Amino acid sequence: MIIPKADRLQPNELKEIEEIAKDFDCSILEIHGRNRCVYAILGDENHAVMFKRIAGLPYIGKVAMIESSYKLMDRQSGLSDHVVRMGETEVGMEAPFVIGGPCTIDPANPSLYLETAHALKEAGVDALRGGVWKPRTNPYSYQGDNKALEIILQAREETGLPIDVEVMDAEHLKLALEAKVDVLQVGTRNALNYSLLKQIGRESAETNSAVLLKRGRHMASPGEFIAAAEYLVAAGNPDVMLCPRGTTPALDGYRNHPDESITPLLKNRTWAPVVVDPSHSVGHSDYVLACALSAVAYGADGLCIESHVEPQRGIGDDPKQAINPEKMRELIKACRAAFPNRYRPV
Ligand code: PEP
Ligand code: MN
Repeated sequence: MIIPKADRLQPNELKEIEEIAKDFDCSILEIHGRNRCVYAILGDENHAVMFKRIAGLPYIGKVAMIESSYKLMDRQSGLSDHVVRMGETEVGMEAPFVIGGPCTIDPANPSLYLETAHALKEAGVDALRGGVWKPRTNPYSYQGDNKALEIILQAREETGLPIDVEVMDAEHLKLALEAKVDVLQVGTRNALNYSLLKQIGRESAETNSAVLLKRGRHMASPGEFIAAAEYLVAAGNPDVMLCPRGTTPALDGYRNHPDESITPLLKNRTWAPVVVDPSHSVGHSDYVLACALSAVAYGADGLCIESHVEPQRGIGDDPKQAINPEKMRELIKACRAAFPNRYRPV
């Protein structure tokens, strides 16, 4: 990875480096961090001569050889001071940053979603979530509807809160980017879909859309999880958040095996904010508060929680695992009160 002395390379400097890289069958990717640009060498970067030629240029601060399968996500990387933004808010600065909303937006009942959105804003959430397209285990279950995108866009307009929407394929990505969705969610089922990750990273580079990457459910190791995030960053978008959401096999009685405990490990190895999803982890509204408190105790920067004004009227996961906005208010209060020195007061 190349780190220039200035915040970014001038076009003629970039061109010079690209030409050196080309001599070694490599190419250069410019990655826009919040405070600086870093330049990844794509291809076989282990050419000592190439390194020396680039490092010797007067405008280069450092050429770092990071021996890691996630050299951009690594704590040692030039992006280590990168701050991820969701809408206008910096994630991790006034944590816990809370994303709340139903599992699934019911396209036949927009007012239910809008009512939920307003109640959650009142309860103190920082962003809204809502499934437009759903990855359902049962192919005959409700799969989503483009109309739901209009509903969540209306909620953003009315509340002023940023929105988080899961994308599963190129068509969803196109629609979500056209709508300037603030957070593109990659669900657990696609967490290791490298082609999709590369496409999302590439197409969302230099947009204001961040990516919330869930952990692969089949016990993706922390290294595998971080390397999946590396695909997004290496394709051009460093606004990545890591989301533990439970793994399988499940702990008997919970939906999954709660995994908020990997938060300190992720924060130790990477610079990325960790946003834990207790809802899918435990899978039952009664256990969400305990899991959320545990996540913040482990140092989570944020939480992604399913919530609905009337969970029983919801679709997808809502009847089982969504909490109502009143419970959300209590949860946010409890999480902040548990760590008064870390978080802004209620
Ligand atoms: C969701 O957020 O509703 C969802 C489907 O999540 P996951 O990918 O974690 O199952
Ligand atoms: Mn869900």
